[in-house]
Amino acid sequence: MSLPGVESGVLDLETEIPAPMAIVQPIETAPGARRRLALKSPSTLEPLGEIEVQNSDDVGQALEQARKAQPAWAALPVEERVRVLERALKRVIERQDEIVATVIAETGKAQSEALSMEVFASCDVLSYYAKRAVRFLRPEKRRLHGMLRFLKKLQVVYRPLGVVGVITPWNGPFILSMNPTVQALVAGNAVLLKPSEITPASGALAAEILNDAGLPEGVLQVLTGDGETGAALCEAGVDKVCFTGSVETGRKVATACAGQLIPCTLELGGKDPMIVCADADLDSAAGGALAGAYMNTGQYCCGTERVYVVDEVADAFTDKVVERAAALRQGASGEFDVGAIFWDRQMDVIERHMTDARERGASVRVGGRRNPELAGLYYEPTVLTDVDHDMLIMKEETFGPVLPIMRVRDEEEALRLANDTRYGLSATVWSQDAYKAHELAKRIESGGVCINDMTVTYGCPEAPFGGLKESGVGQVNGESGLKSYCHAMPIISDRFGGKQSRGFYPYSAKKDAGLKRVIALVFDGPLRRFLG
Ligand code: NAD
Repeated sequence: MSLPGVESGVLDLETEIPAPMAIVQPIETAPGARRRLALKSPSTLEPLGEIEVQNSDDVGQALEQARKAQPAWAALPVEERVRVLERALKRVIERQDEIVATVIAETGKAQSEALSMEVFASCDVLSYYAKRAVRFLRPEKRRLHGMLRFLKKLQVVYRPLGVVGVITPWNGPFILSMNPTVQALVAGNAVLLKPSEITPASGALAAEILNDAGLPEGVLQVLTGDGETGAALCEAGVDKVCFTGSVETGRKVATACAGQLIPCTLELGGKDPMIVCADADLDSAAGGALAGAYMNTGQYCCGTERVYVVDEVADAFTDKVVERAAALRQGASGEFDVGAIFWDRQMDVIERHMTDARERGASVRVGGRRNPELAGLYYEPTVLTDVDHDMLIMKEETFGPVLPIMRVRDEEEALRLANDTRYGLSATVWSQDAYKAHELAKRIESGGVCINDMTVTYGCPEAPFGGLKESGVGQVNGESGLKSYCHAMPIISDRFGGKQSRGFYPYSAKKDAGLKRVIALVFDGPLRRFLG
């Protein structure tokens, strides 16, 4: 299959590459030449093609072009920038089969996941911002407080930052490239997009669709490559970095951005807990556990990574989950529920966590091994019990189709264990008592919580999305997320024709006495209610 942004048919991988399982494999290149990577499909292990790793010179050139193109793009009325989003929405709909096929070729995810997480979610993002960007970015008149309101007026205008670097991971390769890029663009920025080296074609396709929708040349460019390219982008002199990926890389990005005094948002990993209360609807909770743990083959940043179920319903809940997990269909083509692990290094993490769990006494209730019937990177949907917090599987992000279930005495113990983590991305609470569920939710140290549903917050732009603790810095999406691609610039002027500048300067004892009277009047009497 020929994928956009990936050169196909260049190399016979079977004969020339020594480590056959690697999904991303460095290719030997001449000294001084740019590095190259060969890619394989995780579901068939067939070659997908090669990419070039763009270096700091390439990034510098792309930035120069972006800097030239951005002012004219920013000068367009927001209404015109929105038209590009409208056209892109049409193109996503027209090209949905191609998007699905590209994402599946690179990831081996189930067709329904490619359609829902990548196509539907991208349509929603494009439609949401197309409909609202003009309103969100409109200059705002804000009423001033106290005495100031009699003297001055304030307008806040939303200026684009300039050029934004967007660095994305492989687990939602189309949507996670599309969503931040669309927001940064409609706010008037140019974007340099660096998709994951594992899924470069999906990122390139998102950019191709936006460019075809009428972006001026240079406003959106794709950089292919791995960490070298990502690091070069962070150091290149962009005005903001929007990073989605692992905690470890997030730290490096934060350090680079701090060194340059530029803002960044970091959307990082998680170890999301699920709390099942004694009064939960167990059928619905079991369904939520399944979707949370196995959707996207468990490689969903807000996926359910650990369950705490209250003792009195633990057996009934676990039996339901085990029975349903055993019935899931895993496959590489046709209709199935659980797809591939998207790359071999994630398989290594999953197997390391499973070995550690077994050695420490966990019971494997279903799954617990690679699927012997499928050639690619397939790990069976797995349920573990008899787990505890000494195990990696309960502490570190597994990012695979593994669901450890821990029996707890009561909800307080569940809460304590849910918070016993360095992560804090998302969480779910399952109870039929709405008040209790809300009270529990508020006490979870997490970026967001869903009650009686798997985590859906990334798909609700009205919900600020971002992690606590090591799961991230900053929040994205919606009105505030869009505005974070801008500088909110206050412009303050006189209400009555510019006479105020003669006010307090130069100083005099008489003016000081007047100021004392103002302090007493405004802050120390009944007028404070109106003027404070
Ligand atoms: P990763 O950190 O390995 O890579 C992410 C991106 O960073 C890739 O494009 C990579 O090439 C680039 N990169 C690598 N080194 C870099 C460097 N030094 N400087 C700049 N960029 C660099 O993450 P991954 O394995 O691709 O993605 C999986 C992780 O992403 C998981 O931890 C998952 O939870 C997280 N994730 C988080 C969210 C969220 O919204 N919070 C969403 C999806 C995925």
